[in-house]
Amino acid sequence: MADCLFCKIAAGEIPSTKIYEDEAVYAFADINPQAPFHAIIIPHEHIVSAAEITGENSHLIAKVYEAVAKIAQQEGLQKGFRVVNNCGEDGGQTVGHIHFHLLARRNLQWPPG
Ligand code: AMP
Ligand code: ZN
Repeated sequence: MADCLFCKIAAGEIPSTKIYEDEAVYAFADINPQAPFHAIIIPHEHIVSAAEITGENSHLIAKVYEAVAKIAQQEGLQKGFRVVNNCGEDGGQTVGHIHFHLLARRNLQWPPG
């Protein structure tokens, strides 16, 4: 996608702090962290949001969750973490390339605001 911030980040056209990458997924540090550890995990392929997941692309979401487990191991997040996906306007999504926040290293409250 030509004008997508996260496509450009995954392609290295906009700098980011890489946390993890494989053939399907790219993970980088959130620029405005909401926890001491805050990664953004995206599929390389441009999917707009969770509302656009289909039988054709859902294997990429499975790859995102495989990456979650690998990053948790890599970063020593044995105490736990939270994965958040904001979808659409009411969900608070601000970037139109599906992404999963991986938050850790503080006690996260529930329910969220
Ligand atoms: P959301 O509000 O769920 O769409 O999340 C978008 C996230 O992307 C926010 O947490 C932002 O802080 C983060 N973000 C926006 N631009 C950048 C960037 N250039 N590098 C890293 N994270 C970014
Ligand atoms: Zn994109």
